[in-house]
Amino acid sequence: MRLSLADPLSAVAGVGPRTAAVLAGSGIRTVAELLWHLPSRWEDRAFPLPLREVRAGDVVTVCGQVLDLRVRRVRSRLTIVEAAVSDGESSLAVVWFNQPYLASSLQVGQRLWLHGTARPGRRWGVELHSPEWEKERDDGEAVHHGRIVPVYRRIGEVSSRRLRGLMARILASLDRILPDPLVGLLPGGAALSLAEALTETHFPTAPAGLDERLKLLQQLAQRRTPAQKRLVQQELLGLAVSLEKARQLRRQQRAVACRVTDQIRARARATLPFRLTQAQRRVLREIVADLQGAAPMARLLHGDVGSGKTVVAALATLVVAECGAQVAIMAPTELLAQQHHATFTRLLAPTPHRPALLVGGLSEGEKRQVREGLAGGSLAVVVGTHALFQEETSFARLGLVVIDEQHRFGVAQRQRLMAKGDAPHLLVMTATPIPRSLALTLYGDLEVSVLDELPPGRSRVRTVVRDGGARDRVLGFVRREVSEGGQAYWVVPFIEDSESLSVRAIASHAREIRRGLAGVSVGVVHGRLPAAERDQVMAAFLAGEIKVLCATTVIEVGVDVPRASVMVIENAERFGLAQLHQLRGRVGRGGRASYCVLLLGEECGAEARERVARFAALTDGFAVAEEDFRQRGPGEFTGVRQWGRPDLAAADLRIHLAELEWARGVAARWARRGQLQKLARLLGDPGGHGVGPA
Ligand code: ADP
Ligand code: MG
Repeated sequence: MRLSLADPLSAVAGVGPRTAAVLAGSGIRTVAELLWHLPSRWEDRAFPLPLREVRAGDVVTVCGQVLDLRVRRVRSRLTIVEAAVSDGESSLAVVWFNQPYLASSLQVGQRLWLHGTARPGRRWGVELHSPEWEKERDDGEAVHHGRIVPVYRRIGEVSSRRLRGLMARILASLDRILPDPLVGLLPGGAALSLAEALTETHFPTAPAGLDERLKLLQQLAQRRTPAQKRLVQQELLGLAVSLEKARQLRRQQRAVACRVTDQIRARARATLPFRLTQAQRRVLREIVADLQGAAPMARLLHGDVGSGKTVVAALATLVVAECGAQVAIMAPTELLAQQHHATFTRLLAPTPHRPALLVGGLSEGEKRQVREGLAGGSLAVVVGTHALFQEETSFARLGLVVIDEQHRFGVAQRQRLMAKGDAPHLLVMTATPIPRSLALTLYGDLEVSVLDELPPGRSRVRTVVRDGGARDRVLGFVRREVSEGGQAYWVVPFIEDSESLSVRAIASHAREIRRGLAGVSVGVVHGRLPAAERDQVMAAFLAGEIKVLCATTVIEVGVDVPRASVMVIENAERFGLAQLHQLRGRVGRGGRASYCVLLLGEECGAEARERVARFAALTDGFAVAEEDFRQRGPGEFTGVRQWGRPDLAAADLRIHLAELEWARGVAARWARRGQLQKLARLLGDPGGHGVGPA
């Protein structure tokens, strides 16, 4: 029977109900969805190694005839199946442990493919221990040998080998002749059909020459074969279409329309404690234009730490509040919510709008009061945390949602807050510069504004790398800075969500720093401290009563203490680069020359040291982000996984930026011609069980 990509897996011979259930548990129900479970790597098993060349320690593929076969029972528990195979020239001992059924599966005289690691023989020469095996078939074909063989991530109890068998069976009966409507759209001339591309990706045609095979394996690992490219195009086009659809849907909605009047302009001027930078002015124009449009704004405000996003958000808030709608500002932590609340209160002081605070730490009575104000419409501006999108919170007329540090929130959370209004405007602010390719996918449905200029008077932060042995000198340096009016952060790499041990660890660490800085007031904050206590310490640090703040990464985002001029980071090699950049951004905010000291741990290896040194040389957040991305990939990138986007199966955003931009271009072009739906159909998208990945 011929199979097509959209067929359910139940149509595939060899997929029983049990396997089907396991696969369905991973969202895999159709032939296409299974085929989009792409190999994680490939092994060259194309040609057997002559048996005389098998050396202990090597992973080998061999082929030979079974000369001898016997079963031994060692003690009552252990069964050993021993075979001798020969390729006509030499022979090799093969041993399988505890697989008694092999005795009946194998027969003397049979020809077998074997793949495994050669070990020193117990009696002489080398032997294979429990290798993968496969009978050579009459037609010379084999699934697991005699070719470049795919290796898969197992799916539940379905092993890589089992998957390989299923893929081979499906691909053998897949209709490859069917015209593929997408082929004409793809760049690069004679594009492969999807079915051909899937076949060539799972089971690449192996060239005869060893050098050519090595080259192909390398290309495969880098996802650059023509077949892989074809899959990447398909996948990214699917992604681009869904982003374009989200954009279109939004354009059809009607938002609270704002008009910027002279009164608003006057009030805006009154709120400003300083002249806006060029970049701030440009971004504000973009935002205000959106707010006056008919459709809701959906804009990402992208700016390096310290670029002054908050004041831009405050002005947008003012515009919407003046137009009679409500604004919700959401921060990732209570600490940040409180800081924003203080900033917004200060900035909006010359206006009639008094921001409320809604965080989990308030008493029930206080929360109720704020909620009543929001539901009744008497409160125009609220700053808060997750408490904002809880069930009990509702708004009379939510006009603008501002989300700070977006990567801490999931898409679902963002949508829940948005659902509390009738198509509210959205402003997402991120201080984590992210690589362009990630921005295009993660925030691909948003317009982007960039603050690419720091407010005047900022000094570049001098970054130095020091060995742990330099601690005393660093302590001396901090002491000097403090005596000259500076303040310092001293960050330790304890994980916030680990057990109480880390609380003890940071306490003892702080004692050590206190000892080294006798006479200097040192405070301690970490995520396990009760919020009230933490706020107290932070407030004292902000007021300059505490000079040195020993902290975990709770201070990573947003905290703004202009007098702080030194950031010491212990065990800097344990942090991601983007995180180091965030931490470094906490200093250099006032007029003082500022320093970031990266202390390396005792066990820091050469590679980690080099990574930290590369970071020290980079000052631009975007460059740091690209470097971090290159090193660690999107999965590691500042919690991107929490975003809930499906992982890409074929594309690697580090490699395929050009393809991504191509896909966005195609989707935008079809959208302009009003043919997005048609493109989605070509991609097999509607219904979700077409030819795309699961
Ligand atoms: P971020 O983009 O990291 O959120 P903030 O909004 O916290 O940056 O701004 C960082 C600091 O710079 C704050 O102390 C803020 O008051 C100040 N600031 C912002 N814009 C300007 C400006 N145009 N001129 C001078 N100082 C500014
Ligand atoms: Mg900020």
